Amino acid sequence: MKKSLTIILSTIIVFLGLKVKAQVEYDNYFTDNQLRIDYYLFGNSDTVSYALDKLVKEPKWGGPRAHLVDSTNYGMYFVEVTLPDSDVVLYSHGYCLLFGEWQTTDEATKISKGFHESVVIPFPKELVEVTFYAKNDHLELNEQMKIFVDPNDYFIKPAPKLPYAVYNVYGDYPVENAVDIVLLPDGYTEQEMGKFVKDCQFFVKSLFSYAPYNRYQDRFNIRAVLVPSQDSDITMPGDGLYRNTALSCSFWTFDSERYCMTYDNETMKTLAGQVPYDQIYILANTKKYGGGGIFNSYCVSTTGNSYSSDVIIHEFGHGFAGLADEYAYDGTDNYSLEVEPWEPNITTLVGFDAKWKDMLGKKTPVPTPVEKKYENTVGVYEGAGYQLNGIYRPMIDCLMNTFNGDKFCPVCERAIERMILHYTE
Ligand SMILES: [Zn+2]
Repeated sequence: MKKSLTIILSTIIVFLGLKVKAQVEYDNYFTDNQLRIDYYLFGNSDTVSYALDKLVKEPKWGGPRAHLVDSTNYGMYFVEVTLPDSDVVLYSHGYCLLFGEWQTTDEATKISKGFHESVVIPFPKELVEVTFYAKNDHLELNEQMKIFVDPNDYFIKPAPKLPYAVYNVYGDYPVENAVDIVLLPDGYTEQEMGKFVKDCQFFVKSLFSYAPYNRYQDRFNIRAVLVPSQDSDITMPGDGLYRNTALSCSFWTFDSERYCMTYDNETMKTLAGQVPYDQIYILANTKKYGGGGIFNSYCVSTTGNSYSSDVIIHEFGHGFAGLADEYAYDGTDNYSLEVEPWEPNITTLVGFDAKWKDMLGKKTPVPTPVEKKYENTVGVYEGAGYQLNGIYRPMIDCLMNTFNGDKFCPVCERAIERMILHYTE
């Protein structure tokens, strides 16, 4: 599920290149805690406004401590932490949001809506400035909201202690050198918690049966928060089935039947914050095929379907590594052909040098024809990012395209590998 933001913003383009982006020493500026900043985004397809909700102090920062400054340029949104009146960046990261995807829907051309969203940053030791940016159609960062965070502010709420057990599914590696995934159950009743535990093990088995994850099994921690739902299975509005579940996941998100996400950001983030995490993954207890993944936000996959293993890994490609869908169909224009998309596995050829040009053979034509002889060749194949023309993918097939080959193309594999290293080295 993707976006092409048409936000027209009247704010200033900020040249982040002017800022000092050297990595700082974590312990000099941050405690072991995590700060969750909850905010609202209101708007439609053309406009957006930000409003702060609240600050929450969570027990443990789950993100990296070595790579505090994000230089990937991934994602449509960006948060940056600096000292007041200083250009030294203490922390930054890029991400995408459900709101940004909604802005590309037909509904967003007709009405305005409000979404609750959050970012997490390491908890500061002194007063810091936190600046929120969004990218415009040209993928330039525009400042949206700036807040000052005083760590001694008594309005920063402590995270509630919830009565749910934590299940250590896999790994016992130092948090700062691991990719920490928190699994959250939706649509599992109290009596079905045993099934959720089995589905968590299925998640681990699935993850480590694909390259490159199988080569980095000693760099992952996977934990689960055992929160039961009142009802079994999840909500399916198109079938008139509404269920009372812990995370409120629903098919027909944005009226797309297989798109299964939740609007209940606060519950999701509160549950996830019980453990340190880099990535949130909701497992939905239903046989229906579907899911979704938003970069550095969260992923959802159903668990009772014969394709569940592929869906779990495909969606994690979006959520963890910022991979784009490599499939194409007629009639969409999600991406501007004049701009190089930020995702590492598609290109408009505008900025191809920074993508996978180094992985092309000398004799591989650009674009590369979709022919049998190129079946296993890294090339530049037209059709990707939902568009048949003008956008190119690295291989004829890949797990970000179909489930036929059941593996990632070398470009996606490299992008995932780089992300694992970002979190763990
Ligand atoms: Zn790929």
